[in-house]
Amino acid sequence: MKRFAAILLALTLLLSGCTGTVTPTPEPTPTLPVSLPTPGGDVAEGTIFAMDTVMTFRIHGENGQEMISLITNTINSLENTLSVTREGSDVWNINHATGEPIAVGEDAAYLLTLAKELGEKADGALDVTMYPVVKAWGFATKGVDDPGEAEHRVPRAEELSELLEHVDYRKVAVQDGTVTLPADMELDLGAIAKGYAGERAADLLRENGVTSALLNMGGNVQSVGSKPDGSPWRIGIQDPAGDTGAYLGVLQLVDQAAVTSGGYQRYFEEDGIRYWHIMDPATGAPARSGLTQVTIVGDKGGLCDGLSTALFVMGREKALDYWRTYGGFEAILVDGDNTVWITAGLKDSFSLVEGTEYTLQVVEE
Ligand code: ADP
Ligand code: MG
Repeated sequence: MKRFAAILLALTLLLSGCTGTVTPTPEPTPTLPVSLPTPGGDVAEGTIFAMDTVMTFRIHGENGQEMISLITNTINSLENTLSVTREGSDVWNINHATGEPIAVGEDAAYLLTLAKELGEKADGALDVTMYPVVKAWGFATKGVDDPGEAEHRVPRAEELSELLEHVDYRKVAVQDGTVTLPADMELDLGAIAKGYAGERAADLLRENGVTSALLNMGGNVQSVGSKPDGSPWRIGIQDPAGDTGAYLGVLQLVDQAAVTSGGYQRYFEEDGIRYWHIMDPATGAPARSGLTQVTIVGDKGGLCDGLSTALFVMGREKALDYWRTYGGFEAILVDGDNTVWITAGLKDSFSLVEGTEYTLQVVEE
């Protein structure tokens, strides 16, 4: 009955224009947009599989289908540049350069600069050179056009400490469009690429005059403007504990990104212990900070994505210190003890769903 109620709630939210920050288990599908029936009025919808996740787009106004093709091309070309497994991508080239400088495009240079800056501010909680560790746990994808993950396993402590000797974002050198990485290191942009893809797609839509669109990039929601009637988009924030896709709350969003990281998105279990894909660079193991989910709301999807991963690793107290020190974004932090902490700027735009077991705490500056 509870499950039925949850599904009903999810459906109601969806029908009322709500999109969950949900990462569905990706089914390999073609990267071409699959057009869905137009639900009436000037609106186009499309679904693609890119960056290892299912993405759905909803674009209001004229030329919706054209706009979907446009952003699909942009996302596909970003994937070709930023993918760690695609031979010849900027990231692949950096990882295979055996310590030599590599010329990269603007996107990779921008994201690596951003990642280094965030790594610094977050005291190493975000570290793009964690890739060897992520691989050891089996959370890296197997390769091009093969979205499945490698075999999950729990690496031994000695193996992890050896791998951590090759992890340090400060050793990534970015200068004048070239990147140099020590030969014994590897990097990946999995923690920020999807949010950045949403940011770029939204910018492109705005440049083309779109004033109302919602892009769901698998756990990352990017909005352009508001709903066509001028009211805010309503985004369902997934209950991290549920397996039904139930929501714990609803976030109103206008022209911003909302990016969620959680330990329930990709995980495996062994001997009754759950291991997930967000790693603490201090230990080389899945981050157990007490937070079960972090959502970052802000203007720049790439930054929000990097922060969602970093704050998940940092835990509530450090995360809120970070917010107070640097600002420029709002956050929804879900604690293992069923408390939802929201930063002051979300007071009027976030509410828990009725009858939830969660309690809400507003954090003032
Ligand atoms: P998702 O990809 O589910 O949206 P995140 O944005 O939190 O989740 O990014 C997690 C991905 O980033 C992992 O799959 C891994 O490739 C990489 N990663 C894991 N831990 C870290 C970390 N501490 N710093 C940087 N990248 C990480
Ligand atoms: Mg992230």
